[in-house]
Amino acid sequence: MRYEAPETLDAAVRLLSSATGLTKILAGGTDLLVQMRTDVVEPEVIVDIKGIGEVRHIGEENGGFRIGAAITGAELEEHPTLSKIWPGVVEGANLIGSTQVQGRATMGGNLCNGSPAADSVPGLIAAAATATIAGPNGTREMAVEDIMTGPRQLAIAKDEFIVSFFLPARPANASDCYLRFIPRTEMDIAVVGCATCLVLDGSGKITDARVSLGAVAARPLLVKECADAIIGSTLDEAAMAKLDAAAQAACKPITDKRGTIEYRTKVAGVLARRTAKTAYDRAKG
Ligand SMILES: Cc1cc2nc3c(=O)[nH]c(=O)nc-3n(C[C@H](O)[C@H](O)[C@H](O)COP(=O)(O)OP(=O)(O)OC[C@H]3O[C@@H](n4cnc5c(N)ncnc54)[C@H](O)[C@@H]3O)c2cc1C
Repeated sequence: MRYEAPETLDAAVRLLSSATGLTKILAGGTDLLVQMRTDVVEPEVIVDIKGIGEVRHIGEENGGFRIGAAITGAELEEHPTLSKIWPGVVEGANLIGSTQVQGRATMGGNLCNGSPAADSVPGLIAAAATATIAGPNGTREMAVEDIMTGPRQLAIAKDEFIVSFFLPARPANASDCYLRFIPRTEMDIAVVGCATCLVLDGSGKITDARVSLGAVAARPLLVKECADAIIGSTLDEAAMAKLDAAAQAACKPITDKRGTIEYRTKVAGVLARRTAKTAYDRAKG
C-alpha cells in the first residue's frame, strides 16, 4: 500500500488519475480506517487530502459560507458565526460519533462514505448546499442531493474528489434544524434523520422550504412534497398533518435491527413535524 499526502488540488488529481488499483481519499479516517482494519476495503493507494489548503479552509464567501471538505465537526462548532446562521447544518455534523470522533470526522467523508444514514447530509441538502468537485478537467459544482446515488455509490468519478461545500447566503427570517432518532442516546446510526430549512415573510408565513430525510431510502432524499405541504402556511396543524403525510409517503425504507419499515415511516413523519417546528421558531427569532 502506498500513502501519498499531496499539497495541491492538481497534485491530488494527478495521483488519482494515474493510480491503478483501488485508490482511496483519506480525510478523518473514521470510516476508511475501520473498513481497512476489517478488510472491507484494501486500497493500493491512499491519498491524504488534509495537507491541501482548500479542503481545510472555512470562511464567508458572497454572503454564504465555504466549508472545506476536510473540516471536522468540532471545527464547525467552534466557528464563531456558523452555528448561529446554519444551526441545522452544524447539528448534523455534531451528531457524528463521540467527542473524539468529531475531532476527526469530516462532512466530505460522511457524504462520500455513501451511507444513506449519514448524519450531516440531510442538513446540507436542506440548506441547498453545493459541492465543489476537483477532477482532471478542473472543478465543477454539484448539488449535494445529486452526489449519493445509492448505498456506497456516488456520482463522482474515480479521479475526482470533493474540495468544499458552499452554503448559500441565508435570507432574513430563515433557519434550519436537524434531528435524528437512534435507539440509544449517542454513538448509533440514525433510524431516521430529518433536516428542514425554511424562510418566513414578515407575517410568519413560510415562503420557501426544503426538507431532507435520511435512512429511509437508498440515499438521502430531498422531498419536494414536504416543502409544498408547508409553503404558504404559518405551520398550523393542517400544514403539519400534510407535512407528516408527505414525509411518510416519501419513505422507501428497509427493515433491520434498528427498526421496521412501518416504524421508520412513522418516525419520519414525526421528525418532519419536529424539525419544521424548531426551524420555524428559530426563523421567527
Ligand atoms: C465510533 C464511530 C461512531 C460514528 N458515529 C457516526 C454517527 O453518529 N453518524 C454518522 O453519520 N457517522 C458516524 N460514523 C461514521 C464516520 O465517523 C462518519 O461517516 C465521518 O463523517 C466520516 O468522515 P471521515 O473524514 O472520517 O471520512 P474518511 O474515513 O476519511 O473517508 C470516508 C470515505 O469517504 C471518502 N472521502 C473522504 N473525503 C472525501 C472527499 N473529500 N472526496 C471524496 N471522497 C472522500 C474516503 O475515500 C472514504 O471512502 C461513526 C464512526 C465511528 C468510528
